[in-house]
Amino acid sequence: MSQDKPTIPTGVELLHDPLLNHGTAFTRKEREKLGLQGLLPYQVVPQEKQVERIMENFHRKPNDLEKYILLIGLQDRNENLFYRVVMENIDLMMPIIYTPTVGQACVEYAHIFRRPRGMFITAKDKGNIANILKNWPRDDVRAIVVTDGERILGLGDLGASGMGIPVGKLSLYTACAGIHPATTLPITLDVGTNNENFINDPFYIGIKEPRLRGEAYDEFIEEFITAVQERFPHALVQFEDFANINAFRLLEKYRNRICTFNDDVQGTASVTVAGVYSALRLTGGQLKDQTLLFLGAGEAGIGIADLIVSGMVEEGLTEEEARAKCWFVDSRGLVVKSRTDLAHHKLPYAHDFEPMADLLTAVEAIKPTALVGVSGQPRTFTQKIVERMAEYNEQPMIFALSNPTSKAECTAEEAYTWSDGRAIYASGSPFAPVEYKGKTYVPGQGNNSYIFPGVGLGVTAVAAKHVTDEMFMAAAKTLADQVSETDLAMGRIYPPLQDIRKVSLAIAVAVAEVAYKQELATVPRPNDLVAHVKTHMYDPKYESLA
Ligand code: NAD
Repeated sequence: MSQDKPTIPTGVELLHDPLLNHGTAFTRKEREKLGLQGLLPYQVVPQEKQVERIMENFHRKPNDLEKYILLIGLQDRNENLFYRVVMENIDLMMPIIYTPTVGQACVEYAHIFRRPRGMFITAKDKGNIANILKNWPRDDVRAIVVTDGERILGLGDLGASGMGIPVGKLSLYTACAGIHPATTLPITLDVGTNNENFINDPFYIGIKEPRLRGEAYDEFIEEFITAVQERFPHALVQFEDFANINAFRLLEKYRNRICTFNDDVQGTASVTVAGVYSALRLTGGQLKDQTLLFLGAGEAGIGIADLIVSGMVEEGLTEEEARAKCWFVDSRGLVVKSRTDLAHHKLPYAHDFEPMADLLTAVEAIKPTALVGVSGQPRTFTQKIVERMAEYNEQPMIFALSNPTSKAECTAEEAYTWSDGRAIYASGSPFAPVEYKGKTYVPGQGNNSYIFPGVGLGVTAVAAKHVTDEMFMAAAKTLADQVSETDLAMGRIYPPLQDIRKVSLAIAVAVAEVAYKQELATVPRPNDLVAHVKTHMYDPKYESLA
């Protein structure tokens, strides 16, 4: 991929360029040639030693938010070093730069704000967005993550403070799949906030007005998308943490027009379906034999069900038969035909069945094989519910996916103990391994970052015109294939995070294959697709500037 070739700055300017700065690792030759003599202390410190120093500081920080601040500071100073640290310690770093800590960072964003990152496009910029995008210093942008901050994780409307999410997601594009950081762009659309706490907060960084709605909102998004297409024609645009009143509509509107996807809908679906495929290796049986009950009928739930339906159809069911195996309980009870309050996206899953007010009653009536929590409501998978699931199934699938950790429908420990060690458990945020009756269970984290970086890499490596559901299905199957027998023996239905680069490469290649099959790739098919994708993977080692 052609990167912008900036002329290398010198002196203090170079030290202040996070993409080029090597800090104390600049060699004597570089220091001499680039006007750095006298601007750095004497010792030349190799990158491995710099990593050790950062880790020493990391462990010294008293809490996760302080660790987050340390890492963001490093990212602002020296991106290569930041990515080396993150990649070498992915297990430790992922919960800091992404969920759960990033959630807390967004809540407190206005108070911990140090340096802007990415672009803030506001409702006041209407009519002028194309000009504003020109202020971004690099032309070759390949991956944009954009949010309007209305549904940040399970935390709700965080307005412009939601910026932590696009920043964090793009860091994962780079750390997990090697998309070059110079080609990424986080964007927050500040269209106001309805969060009263923020409006009353003297430090809040965004527009203190109610959110744009209706036609004005749609026009704003349309102007933004058109301007992005013009300014960054090769960019993949990932929609992130929009409220579901907008998310589904925008996805339908733009998915066949530009290269875009919605991670909350499609990425979540893919990682969850991968978890179900892996779990089936433990339980036996096929996808089409499963009955799934979802708590929460929003972006995540409906997205997952739609992909499950595609998988069941592949196994020979009709769409109608497949939908009949997916059930939903939302905040008003079981989603059934007789209800008159159902949003459009829930209608395909409204079955002809008696209304039921709560999850336990629904579990007892439907006897699902899998329970999927995507409600943002903590502690809703009660002991009784998990016990019922274990009564109906030898190995019930219990996926408590709500983020952050405080919102999980049940903890790993609860799932294992209440099911007498038989549950196949996955969560959205990480849980530590659990000892139960002498056995160690390793809960799987149904983390979208298993999927979207690889999908992004595959799509950008072949410059695909669109991102399709078939790509997400291919990603799910590839991810499930990466789970080893050893992982499964510990109850882990996802591969270890340390393998994420390998996993992302495999997913990228599978996605690129689909792009060629669907005639969506715009670069000629290379002889060796794996080698081609690998050339797009950034390595954070320092390149000599001398
Ligand atoms: P959403 O706002 O689109 O949907 C939430 C749904 O939950 C709505 O249908 C709502 O009616 C329902 N709900 C609210 N209160 C309820 C209650 N008391 N009982 C039953 N249902 C209730 O949000 P979303 O994007 O679907 O995300 C939902 C949750 O899933 C969030 O916590 C999010 O963090 C999590 N999530 C996890 C992953 C992952 O782990 N990979 C990915 C995406 C989303």
